[in-house]
Amino acid sequence: MSHCLTLLKKVFGYPAFRGSQADIIEHVAAGHDSLVLMPTGGGKSLCYQIPALIRHNAGLGASIVVSPLIALMQDQVAALTKAGVRAAYLNSSLTLAEVVIAERAFVRAELQLLYIAPERLMTSRFLELLTRSRIGLFAIDEAHCVSQWGHDFRCEYMRLCALHKRFPRVPRIALTATADTLTREEIIERLALHHARVFISSINRPNIRYRIIEKNNARAQLLDFIQAEHTKIDGTTDTGIVYCLSRRKVEETANWLVRQGLRALPYHAGMDARLRLKNQQVFQHEESVVICATIAFGMGIDKPNVRFVAHLDLPKSIEGYYQETGRAGRDNHASNAWMVYGLGDVMQQRRMIRESTANELYKRVQTAKLEALLGLCETAKCRRVQLLSYFGETGQPCGNCDICLDPPATYDGTREAQMALSCVYRAKRASGFGFGESHLTDILCGNKTKRVKRWGHDTLSTFSIGASLPAEQWRSIFRQLIALGLLSIDHGGHGILVLTELSKSVLKGERNITLRQYSKFKRDTQGGWHTLW
Ligand code: ADP
Ligand code: ZN
Repeated sequence: MSHCLTLLKKVFGYPAFRGSQADIIEHVAAGHDSLVLMPTGGGKSLCYQIPALIRHNAGLGASIVVSPLIALMQDQVAALTKAGVRAAYLNSSLTLAEVVIAERAFVRAELQLLYIAPERLMTSRFLELLTRSRIGLFAIDEAHCVSQWGHDFRCEYMRLCALHKRFPRVPRIALTATADTLTREEIIERLALHHARVFISSINRPNIRYRIIEKNNARAQLLDFIQAEHTKIDGTTDTGIVYCLSRRKVEETANWLVRQGLRALPYHAGMDARLRLKNQQVFQHEESVVICATIAFGMGIDKPNVRFVAHLDLPKSIEGYYQETGRAGRDNHASNAWMVYGLGDVMQQRRMIRESTANELYKRVQTAKLEALLGLCETAKCRRVQLLSYFGETGQPCGNCDICLDPPATYDGTREAQMALSCVYRAKRASGFGFGESHLTDILCGNKTKRVKRWGHDTLSTFSIGASLPAEQWRSIFRQLIALGLLSIDHGGHGILVLTELSKSVLKGERNITLRQYSKFKRDTQGGWHTLW
């Protein structure tokens, strides 16, 4: 073990191991299989890099690191080379001559580490090369890519199981930051890691402050947030990532931030490849840059001092949210994960799921994941406790999320829930089909819109019964009813809300409902509502 520590100090310049790094390194260096679940920024790379050095020193050849991320490979190889480690990578960015050089160095065991993309590793040409070489170990990074239900599925990862069959004596270490039990089991199954020791570190990121707020003017809210919390005295901003769902919105947001005087750059898969790479490099190597990006950006970004991650749109799942926000604060300094969302986001995601070409089971799983995320948004409990419990961990209220810092008031919303549910029921009974949240809100608020008049909904008994509440409040109530499973979004699309089995008990008055007060409004003792600002 003291040998590992010497390497850590001498090669990597760190004084001590973090968390379970030392245990993992010892286990892997000794030639055993392992599955490592560690949060982003936890220090997974050292878990295979140090064993690779040890095993190379022992004459066992170079270690192979499988990674789907070209940018990450390049950064890691550059950093390792600088530290005096003999490392190289093989991916589609190399010329044939460069490939030949790297392969030759590998076969001759001159390399200590070789990073490789999975599709290249599994070619018969490369597998043949492997049979002629000594191999230190296989490290399979981003191992959750093997999970078919996950958000980063890569079919080439499925084939990695063949490595074990062909090279049964070479130890393997699979690593991921996605730690929910289902994904974990799937990784073990698909990579045949049944005998592997599983190392689970808490995925909690105490330095990240989570905040999720209702969206009303997303851009203005974002600018307020950056100006209030991430602008330095000289006027420059902290380094941050702003996630948007669409390429167009990425471009528009970046342009708009530039017009507001910020140094913002776009990044998405539809951009000219050279410009995209340039923006990524500026972000990686310079400071005070805000990058606006689709989720195409980020996997493998190793910028330790990202101070905030902002979401202008809802991610697809809690896994996605956790991974994206996890890019903040890898240096363990205080950082913000800030998100604005509205029911429109949920509808948009639902539409995307519906219109995708995936099979029904997959669509159902994605829908359930989206609903879990809505539940997180609408919760009145500590965000961190909710996040951790989603990944199978327990925790105490954290004191570092919006809910803990400024607990939302709750109220007995049984009457409001009944009004909303009965409005859903009556509008459907009157017209023969269902309606979405905005039309239902119009009915409840007594707005005589064209649609309300066309359907005769101004004659419903629920017309105008909620007029004492502002429309935003009703929107918040509808979101919470969905999050509570009292309403569901119709699978046919169009955002139609339908009653569920559970709604009946509320309508019959058999169940009381506690709702979260919409932050902008407060109810007085007489039951009237007032704007707070
Ligand atoms: P992960 O892959 O788990 O997201 P990395 O391996 O990229 O994390 O490590 C995250 C950061 O922490 C890197 O900047 C790395 O150099 C640093 N780091 C890792 N282990 C240690 C350690 N024992 N001491 C100090 N810094 C460390
Ligand atoms: Zn909390």
